[in-house]
Amino acid sequence: MNINFNEAELAFRDEVRSFLSSELPQDIAAKVKGGKHLSKEDHQRWQQILSRKGWYATHWPVEYGGVEWSAVQKHIFDEETAAFGAPRTIPFGVNMVAPVIIKFGTEEQKQHYLPRILSGEDWWCQGYSEPGAGSDLASLKTRAVRQGDHYIVNGQKTWTTLGQHANWIFCLVRTDTQAKPQSGISFLLIDMQTPGITVRPIITLDGEHEVNEVFFEDVKVPVENLVGEENKGWTYAKYLLTYERTGLAGIGASKAALDRLKEIAGKEVKNGKPLLQDPAFASRVAQVEIDLMAAEITNLRIIAAVEGGGVPGAESSMLKVKGTEIRQTITDLMRRAIGPYAQPFPEAEMELDYEGEYLSSDYAAPLAPHYFNMRKLSIFGGSNEIQKNIVAKMILEL
Ligand SMILES: Cc1cc2nc3c(=O)[nH]c(=O)nc-3n(C[C@H](O)[C@H](O)[C@H](O)COP(=O)(O)OP(=O)(O)OC[C@H]3O[C@@H](n4cnc5c(N)ncnc54)[C@H](O)[C@@H]3O)c2cc1C
Repeated sequence: MNINFNEAELAFRDEVRSFLSSELPQDIAAKVKGGKHLSKEDHQRWQQILSRKGWYATHWPVEYGGVEWSAVQKHIFDEETAAFGAPRTIPFGVNMVAPVIIKFGTEEQKQHYLPRILSGEDWWCQGYSEPGAGSDLASLKTRAVRQGDHYIVNGQKTWTTLGQHANWIFCLVRTDTQAKPQSGISFLLIDMQTPGITVRPIITLDGEHEVNEVFFEDVKVPVENLVGEENKGWTYAKYLLTYERTGLAGIGASKAALDRLKEIAGKEVKNGKPLLQDPAFASRVAQVEIDLMAAEITNLRIIAAVEGGGVPGAESSMLKVKGTEIRQTITDLMRRAIGPYAQPFPEAEMELDYEGEYLSSDYAAPLAPHYFNMRKLSIFGGSNEIQKNIVAKMILEL
């Protein structure tokens, strides 16, 4: 197995670097690198730049506007975009619902929805989880009852990321209450403007409005918005989750965060010296760097296996656990680096154009909220405990 990049891959990396140098807007990169607030417009602006280049839909077939990159190319792209400070791709449209529509949707659905995802006209959110259905997703209760040409939907979804910006939601709904849980679920595309939908914010520990509750009360959804067959939604849901878990290890993002940690610990002073030279702190940084290097090599090994025709199995669960633990450790060390300045939460300092006096430094404000925000990594996309169950069963054969 060769985990070094070949000449063509190195040339591709150069092409990506030169594109990012010239096309990534400096203000957006400054926000990402400094952990400042990104607006919906920032995300849309970057998405349109990628779309124009033809590099937005990296998972799609060429005929629909994708690029069909190899696993190595996707890896290089993820690493470089993270290093340059590009915003992460909001995955719900392009990387989640689109692959399902491409694989299981009708020709009309493909023609209608895919171009609108590419152009950024539609912003999608994901309606899987419910108050009583997270890890045990198949116990979901949101009900869709067929009435003529429509389904009537009643129920509640929760943790709906960026649902406040979305004009479409893809939902798992129960269409058969008699069958066993997995067999009575369908996959519906729902226009968020439909009467009967209410979006209520959930404000998280970092003070941000990132997630929502979405309520459905007698919402009329045309039957042509059903993807695939009625009651076969579980199959499509699982297919989508394989895309959701791709890249959850976030190696590129962790490498960029580690650089930032070193920069901050190089500026903070302890006993007259940079914190990075404090033996106790330096050893913690070294430990997480070693873990990150090991995770990166594991990631490359999995990519090499995929290129050789293999399919990533429980290894992606392993990588998700390790990758998210590393990211959380880095954000913890950043928070520790600024000591008591992690306590206050000067919200105004989170804006790039803030011109007031900083409580301590221009980099401190986002560190504590970011630490809290990153707790989510071990919960979503299948919690780390669930991933460990998979590793125990499939690799350790317990
Ligand atoms: C910030 C954030 C954003 C999210 N965005 C979305 C979104 O956009 N759309 C969406 O549909 N969902 C979203 N989710 C929901 C996410 O997928 C669920 O939170 C996740 O699946 C866990 O479900 P739960 O919260 O109901 O916890 P539970 O399933 O109730 O789990 C509670 C605890 O028990 C553990 N546990 C559960 N079952 C087992 C088991 N069998 N073995 C061992 N341990 C177990 C879990 O690991 C966890 O620690 C988001 C969540 C967060 C935190």
